[in-house]
Amino acid sequence: MSDTTPLTRLLIEQIEQTGPISLADYMRIALGHPEHGYYTTRIPFGADGDFITAPEISQMFGELIGLWAVDMWAKLGGPAAFNLVELGPGRGTLMADLLRAASVVPDFGKAATVHFVEMSPTLRTLQAERVPKAHWADTLADLPEGPMILIANEFVDALPVRQFVRTDRGWFERGVSVSTERNLALGLLPAPVDRGILPPSVRDAREGSYAEICPAGLTIASEIADRLTAHAGAALLIDYGHARSATGDTVQAVHNHKYVDILTRCGEADITAHVDFEALTLAAKAATATRTITQGSFLHGLGIEARATALKTNATPEQAADIAGALKRLTGESEMGSLFKVMALTTPGAPAPAGF
Ligand code: SAH
Repeated sequence: MSDTTPLTRLLIEQIEQTGPISLADYMRIALGHPEHGYYTTRIPFGADGDFITAPEISQMFGELIGLWAVDMWAKLGGPAAFNLVELGPGRGTLMADLLRAASVVPDFGKAATVHFVEMSPTLRTLQAERVPKAHWADTLADLPEGPMILIANEFVDALPVRQFVRTDRGWFERGVSVSTERNLALGLLPAPVDRGILPPSVRDAREGSYAEICPAGLTIASEIADRLTAHAGAALLIDYGHARSATGDTVQAVHNHKYVDILTRCGEADITAHVDFEALTLAAKAATATRTITQGSFLHGLGIEARATALKTNATPEQAADIAGALKRLTGESEMGSLFKVMALTTPGAPAPAGF
């Protein structure tokens, strides 16, 4: 057995006893194992972390989403009590910036009960420092009923995906087994897969193509839609991904701001997959979906330039350069501005959300 992490060793033993696991199970264990999982044990973001997310780049991101939420709340009739939900809030930065910006309308803050859906005890501690009044839940299903405004930034990309390969004998699922040298190895699970589980537009892809589905993401999209049909509300989903279902292997691992093999550093690297917004929209068909647009055009639509200009008025030259740099990272082509996509779901019949 080569140089490995404690979680790799556990997985090798498990697979030797009970057989290969799917790539989705591998991802679930690598990220969520109660003792050694990536999100359970680490603080993934920031300079010492493995990657940086939009709210950590600039306060403008959370602030604009705060104004988006206030506008949406008013459009929904300004409910006197509602759940302000964030899925996977990371360090709690987005919600802290959102609430600060939203304080221009005090009734919004009075009406909101903040709920965080978070699996990591480490991150829950950080979130409590930023947003002491929040409530925590393990899943969306555990939250109380009622009107809701929900935000999720880079949450769905952390949910496990099942990955399939088209062979000359049809579609097969990718799995993880153990090689004769006792290393983890990628391969195909033996049973053929019914192509009906794949997005319609990729089912007939040519031999050698990859396809992915994210069952947990689809379940969450349909749960959100159910809540939005029972009570007034809206949800804003932002993630690295594509507007239309497409073929391709998008599963990637990042450690220390660098790409690494997905099977090495198990539990020590962040593993994500691109989000298929077309599939999420279909799963949420009980609600009304906006188009899926780029993060750049969403933030432009909400007025990020004006916010950057306002922040620069009282800034030192260094701070002004930081603000300009953040604006470029968040909205630029071939940066987050085009790689990240945004889609909103609302209660059918509700006014259209801002920014689309
Ligand atoms: N939204 C934050 C963090 C994104 S990282 C930001 O933009 O900075 C993904 C977040 O989702 C982390 O907080 C992680 O712990 C959480 N997470 C990942 N999978 C989860 C799951 N299945 N259930 C609950 N939280 C999860």
